[in-house]
Amino acid sequence: MAGSVRVGVLALQGAFREHILSLEALGVEAVAVRLPDQLEGCAGLIIPGGESTAIGKLMTSYGFYEALCTAHDQGMAIWGTCAGAILLARRVLDALPDQRTLELMDIAVRRNAYGRQVDSFEAELTVGGVAGAPFPGVFIRAPWIEETGPSVEVLATHGGRTVAAREGRLLATTFHPELTGDPRIHGFFVDTVVGS
Ligand code: GLN
Repeated sequence: MAGSVRVGVLALQGAFREHILSLEALGVEAVAVRLPDQLEGCAGLIIPGGESTAIGKLMTSYGFYEALCTAHDQGMAIWGTCAGAILLARRVLDALPDQRTLELMDIAVRRNAYGRQVDSFEAELTVGGVAGAPFPGVFIRAPWIEETGPSVEVLATHGGRTVAAREGRLLATTFHPELTGDPRIHGFFVDTVVGS
């Protein structure tokens, strides 16, 4: 599909390897980004799931907040999955007191929204822009998207809550497509990257 497109995967903590494999399965050049200068030449970036507080602290240590905001201003598409969606959000509900995010996307995200009893589950999702059978949603101590601004398009809901949304070159999913072997949302993101 997009042989000449390079997409970075933020590789500080969490499920970054699975995203790299998913991109490579689509024929996309994928780069594990550990330092901001590795963003050079990447048209898109995935912030993986993991632990948003841990990823956020490492982002501070390595100078990723400024670098990613600048890269996005200059046209980079960014997709956050689960913890990554938290890191994109303008506002986090149930955040740790000093938790910092990129504040790029006009969404309010509630951390660990499903509580302990059902903290991990799978659900079939209808996702806007993703054709065919329902998408297998894998939720692991997931947040949900509690509020969306006027320029945010809701792509999928589950139980009345938004679980996937897009705003311009930003994509947020509260579930983990990289753990399913289903390449459709990676393909959808790569199309955004190519189109931006
Ligand atoms: N609960 C985690 C957090 O707050 C997110 C979990 C995940 O990414 N699977 O960062």
